[in-house]
Amino acid sequence: MKKYFEVDEWKVIENGFDKEYNRVTESVMSLGNGHMGLRGNFAESYSGDSLQGTYIAGVYYPDKTIVGWWKNGYPEYFAKIANATNFIAIDLRIDGQEIDLNRVEFSDFKRVLNMKEAYLERSFTVELEDNRVEIVEQRFLDQKNKEIAAVKYSLRPLDKKSKIVMIPNLDGDVKNEDANYDEFFWEGLGKENSKGKASLTMKTRKSDFVVAAAMEWDLNKNKREVELLTGPGKENYVGNKITLKAEAGEKIELNKYIAVCTSRDYKDDQVSKKAKNKVSEAAIRGFDELFSEHKEAWDRIWQESDIKIEGDPEAQQGIRFNIFHLNQTYTGHDPRLNIGPKGFTGEKYGGLTYWDTEAYCLPFYLSTHSEEVGRNLLLYRYRHLEKAVENADKLGLEGALYPMVTINGEECHNEWEITFEEIHRNGAIAHAIKDYVDYTGDDNYIKEYGIPVLAQISRFWADRAHFNPRKEKYMILGVTGPNEYENNVSNNWYTNRIAVWTLKYTLENLEKIKENDPDKYQDWISELGIEDSELELWQDMTEKMYYPYLEDFDIYAQQDGYLDKEQKLVSDLDDKDIPLHKNWSWDKILRSPYIKQADVMQGVYYFKEDFDQESIARHYDFYEPRTVHESSLSPCIYSILAADLEREEKAYQLYLRTARLDLDNYNTDTDDGLHITSMAGTWMSIVKGFAGFEVKDGQVQFRPFLPEAWDGFEFMIMFRGRRIKVEVDQKKASFSLETGEELKIKVYDQEYQLTAAEDVTVEK
Ligand code: BGC
Repeated sequence: MKKYFEVDEWKVIENGFDKEYNRVTESVMSLGNGHMGLRGNFAESYSGDSLQGTYIAGVYYPDKTIVGWWKNGYPEYFAKIANATNFIAIDLRIDGQEIDLNRVEFSDFKRVLNMKEAYLERSFTVELEDNRVEIVEQRFLDQKNKEIAAVKYSLRPLDKKSKIVMIPNLDGDVKNEDANYDEFFWEGLGKENSKGKASLTMKTRKSDFVVAAAMEWDLNKNKREVELLTGPGKENYVGNKITLKAEAGEKIELNKYIAVCTSRDYKDDQVSKKAKNKVSEAAIRGFDELFSEHKEAWDRIWQESDIKIEGDPEAQQGIRFNIFHLNQTYTGHDPRLNIGPKGFTGEKYGGLTYWDTEAYCLPFYLSTHSEEVGRNLLLYRYRHLEKAVENADKLGLEGALYPMVTINGEECHNEWEITFEEIHRNGAIAHAIKDYVDYTGDDNYIKEYGIPVLAQISRFWADRAHFNPRKEKYMILGVTGPNEYENNVSNNWYTNRIAVWTLKYTLENLEKIKENDPDKYQDWISELGIEDSELELWQDMTEKMYYPYLEDFDIYAQQDGYLDKEQKLVSDLDDKDIPLHKNWSWDKILRSPYIKQADVMQGVYYFKEDFDQESIARHYDFYEPRTVHESSLSPCIYSILAADLEREEKAYQLYLRTARLDLDNYNTDTDDGLHITSMAGTWMSIVKGFAGFEVKDGQVQFRPFLPEAWDGFEFMIMFRGRRIKVEVDQKKASFSLETGEELKIKVYDQEYQLTAAEDVTVEK
């Protein structure tokens, strides 16, 4: 763990440049606007260690799979978000010297991520033999006009008149570092270059996405020469080489505008034209106007999703950093997009969708955005239903098996123990429908879109389970639960439980539709080909599912035989063993009792109403000491449950494990990109954990406490057209209605009426 960045409540500040740490800083300083994103790379060429990364949402390359031993049902490819045209680049030469921060001397280096206004600023002074030149760069990816980005690049020679060469350019000759066969994912379709404007149109190989980047620039100095560059040595490259003389003390300011358009939004032959038109419009409006609209858009985002923490600036910076990146990654404007575990900040995991979206991210987006955003996350899976049915069919099963990892609905994962066995993911996708409907009250969603997803998942569970006549129970064998440190186990309790939950929820909702809208019911029954016998089977499964139980402890067992393992605790491990996945053989991990992440407890979290407090405590006290939390998705679930058990100190300790995960490079892997989906977990720890927020039977409830290290915290909740402000301090919790109609809320089980005129304040 490294405390590298300066603590500031709204900024992340790198003061001085550590080359060795550059990849981490680049990840941390990434910018994104839902449509595109880029790492915090330098505008100038840099020959030191760096991962140059620019990514466009939904644009991928189907990279041919590598596996040791092919198994039927494996996917042919792993979709990789294609590292796209580097559009931020501005090369710089001063008096003939190339400005490469790996080679020239410089001082006063600062890279600052401004989270409030969502821009990156970098400043430094180049120290040449006989001159010093101050350089400042600001960039943002427009949150309002999402296809637009802008850079303001200014420089000022301090000691003498200088010859300056600036080359704003578009460089399409970029490669994914994470490419299985070292292939170039793109082919060039065309480039145009003229004085003041240029464009580059590229197409991904195999997946045929056309992506055009267009640039224009303006400069505060008319006396300059411009030469057009289209190489040499670079095939997919366009640059304008601007040469000028700058007096000592004279400030030269270049604005570079960029538009990136794709064939996801326009016809192939229109993409380039669109990009050129959009960038021209942006250039006419100018940097300042675009920037102020962008800032307004972010101001609205912060009004709805900020969490304020009093008395702990590190925690404040940490939570804002997480909220900031979640909002940069997914804005909910397009149901074809989703949230990759690394967002736009790196290439690991291919930038694709996991169950993380439904289990961890959905609550954040539901509470901090309009309902349409949560709905779009659900529609993403609805649109992939056909592919999920094909995926199950590939494995010889009925119904739908949603992929473990996907970008277009097709499975990309290819480790048998996960691809074929980590089927609990289907459950989170079904449960997200309930979460959304409970939260928004949008019952119609189930009738129109939810039923086919629920029914096909139920059908999958029914086929994947079998009836064991000896025990007279249904069982699900050969699975991997959320704890990936065990594979091919029988009857993972969490999987069996969420399967039953899906079946029940599907049956209940079919029954409701049958009563309220018999025609719609009949439509679904015939469209999905559901027979009475199938409904009876589902019902039977809900009644006769087998759940492994540990009688001695009076708790559910993670799976059959869990207690046969040598029962050791995390406290028995040496420091040098941790993390296990780096220090132990896979064989040793699989045989050990150690649990990677919340597994049974994930189920306790989902199905809390099945348990009384003593039972939750028993499960907690058994499983937590065995959990190594080696997935960043784990601590938040334990933290929420600890808060529920009124174990406040424990809830806080667990929250700390992910609160600044990337800011402090806690797992020494931030160089690969940020842990975007686990950021939602940190938000959950505060809102669902410390504030005890939940929506139960359509009612908003709270059970707040204040961690000892804090003086107070406050946040907003968007709920059914309302914005509710929640403030917690040492003595009381207050709730005020900022917008929308009055409503009843519960605080510590007591009901209150919250109105625009009257806040609710509860003393502790
Ligand atoms: C976790 C999974 C998660 C994936 C992507 C893995 O380490 O075990 O639960 O879906 O990372 O975040």
